[in-house]
Amino acid sequence: MTTDTDYHDVLHHACSYTFHHGDPNDRWFLAGDAALSEVHANHIHEGLHLAKHTLLSRVLAAKPGAERDDIYRPEVMRTIEEEIDSFNDALRELNLKIHDTSEIKFKETFAHDTLTEFMEAQGFEVTRKFKSEVSSDETPQFMTTAWRAAWTNQNGTGAKRVLGVNSEMDALPIPRGEVNHGCGHNLIAIAGVAVALGVKKALKVHGLSGTVVLLGTPAEEGGHGKIRLIEAGAYKEMDACVMCHPGSGPKHEVIAGTDLAIQALRVTYKGKPAHAALAPWEGINAQDAVIQAYNAISMLRQQLKPDLRVHGVIHYDKQPLAVNVIPDHMEMIWDIRAPSKPDLDDLRRRVVACFEGAATATGCTATIICKTPLMNLNQSDVMAQDVFNTVRHRYGMSASIPDQPGAFSTDFGNVTYEMPAIHMGYSIPTPDAQSTNHTVGFIKACATQEAHDETIKVSKAIALTGFRVLDDDQFFGQASAAFKQTKT
Ligand SMILES: [Zn+2]
Ligand SMILES: [Zn+2]
Repeated sequence: MTTDTDYHDVLHHACSYTFHHGDPNDRWFLAGDAALSEVHANHIHEGLHLAKHTLLSRVLAAKPGAERDDIYRPEVMRTIEEEIDSFNDALRELNLKIHDTSEIKFKETFAHDTLTEFMEAQGFEVTRKFKSEVSSDETPQFMTTAWRAAWTNQNGTGAKRVLGVNSEMDALPIPRGEVNHGCGHNLIAIAGVAVALGVKKALKVHGLSGTVVLLGTPAEEGGHGKIRLIEAGAYKEMDACVMCHPGSGPKHEVIAGTDLAIQALRVTYKGKPAHAALAPWEGINAQDAVIQAYNAISMLRQQLKPDLRVHGVIHYDKQPLAVNVIPDHMEMIWDIRAPSKPDLDDLRRRVVACFEGAATATGCTATIICKTPLMNLNQSDVMAQDVFNTVRHRYGMSASIPDQPGAFSTDFGNVTYEMPAIHMGYSIPTPDAQSTNHTVGFIKACATQEAHDETIKVSKAIALTGFRVLDDDQFFGQASAAFKQTKT
């Protein structure tokens, strides 16, 4: 199978982090906004993003103030906190600058320039336009907005491991025609910076050898920037990788769940044109093949498990079809989604069989192109639990692993199949219950002081876990062993 070049620029990944408390009144809204109405509450359970899954998770309520130092090396945590706090104003400024600039996938030049300049000023070794020389089957051919900022302590003790951190930067076109930060990647950008600064300082102060590598990763929204970076070898140097992502939900909540793997498929049918009245028997009808395949997949859907998704559209040529000519060329695009790679592979096999069956039935030839899949999140439970422990004991936050996969997808899923890695979801207050990721309401939420403050807290906890990956051989061994098990 091969990959495609131009058709997959739709925002298909439906990145959404509507959290999952049973009681909708637990949800967190921006101060001054109307109280949650009954209608809103019903919507939470009926339709919005994850609501169909009604994720009743093991929410372990935190006890603010209890055992606040029951975390890995509290003295390192204090170093991390002091360092990140000392940059708080600068991080807030970066956050708002990126939010207000809002650049779409592969065009994050302001974010690229601003963040690389900032990291260089903090003593990191910076590579601008990282891996831009590597061509790709994906669009655009060359990616020029990735960057790398690394810092190494060679004067300490320890195993000299490498911690990877990711900063996403891209916005997306909501409402249609306007590009805005409706998924909070401005917050993810500064979270990565904060984690890198905290780990750098902790390595230095506590005399540990090791490296922290912050990657600026373009085009999470529909561009698969991290897959391109993986293919270019950008993640090879890392022993583990960390990032976080904001969403709407209950106050002060952190989650580490999985999501749905997704793969895009394109099928093109070629037949033979003929006059539809004079000699239709001379024609081979590509439209029949499309309809046959569409109907076959619609029937297949009845036999699919509830957590699988198949959805497709027919692409028409810009030229209108002539009603009296047998159509000889037609194309469809499909997305398939599943909670694991084996499920995705099986689903693809069954959908491709529908494509092929239609070709056989109509006499058309079928060209089937399968994009590189976005894998489901294969989170490191060992690392996630360590972050949970810190946010509970240090910041009084609640933390949980949802029982069901979230109905979203991310290119970081592929990173979690490369090494032990975490993608911590956390809640920020939103104007109302409908303002989940990818909504106009969420744009406003991403710029608030509360959202910034939550990002900083989660970043500090992730920095401590990142430091532990570099510092604690047993902990890293556990994370690696668990990762190898999930790979097999
Ligand atoms: Zn998104
Ligand atoms: Zn996102």
